Amino acid sequence: MGGIGSGRRGQTGKHVTDDYRTLDVRRWQRDGYLTQGRAFSWQWTRNGEMVASIQVRTESDRVILSYRQRSGGGEWKDERYPVRLDWTPCTFGGRRAWFLCAARGCGRRVAVLYGGGIFACRHCYKLAYASQRETVDDRAARRADRIRDRLGWEAGILNGEGDKPKGMHWRTFNRLHAEHNDFVNASLAGMMRKFGRLGVGLDDLLDDR
Ligand SMILES: [Zn+2]
Repeated sequence: MGGIGSGRRGQTGKHVTDDYRTLDVRRWQRDGYLTQGRAFSWQWTRNGEMVASIQVRTESDRVILSYRQRSGGGEWKDERYPVRLDWTPCTFGGRRAWFLCAARGCGRRVAVLYGGGIFACRHCYKLAYASQRETVDDRAARRADRIRDRLGWEAGILNGEGDKPKGMHWRTFNRLHAEHNDFVNASLAGMMRKFGRLGVGLDDLLDDR
């Protein structure tokens, strides 16, 4: 299984999340991570164990992501690239942060980036997804959808997570949630590999690095 490996140590502001590999700029803004000069580590865990992490450094109008990843059991590769930030005014004052998707030719303003080999917006993932025949990661997406159905969550792995259904035991929920996230990660990693097979290498996918 491909994915994102551990990054360098020595950063401050460790944060742990159980979500699958998404980056939510609203959360970073709320928690003060978007202050210029901040450096922090963002980690994903499962059952208390770290399964992935990235290092993030905040500059004035962008964040620099760095992490190691490999796909399909290949060589580990160091990734390091900027994701630009954009700001829009809020109705009641202040401003709201957005990511500008770093995939070449995209640049969409989004709140959430999805991680496979690289972090890109859901539109980019859907493009990759729609462009290929069914493969193992489509099966993973369907399995995730079956769990989503049991949990009463909206179908579609890019639609985020819902709550525990009423009447379901927490243990059952936690198990299904973990299985769901495994399938989502498998599917996202597969989708990002497809970018490579579309004649767009991951190296080409990113501008400016
Ligand atoms: Zn995009």
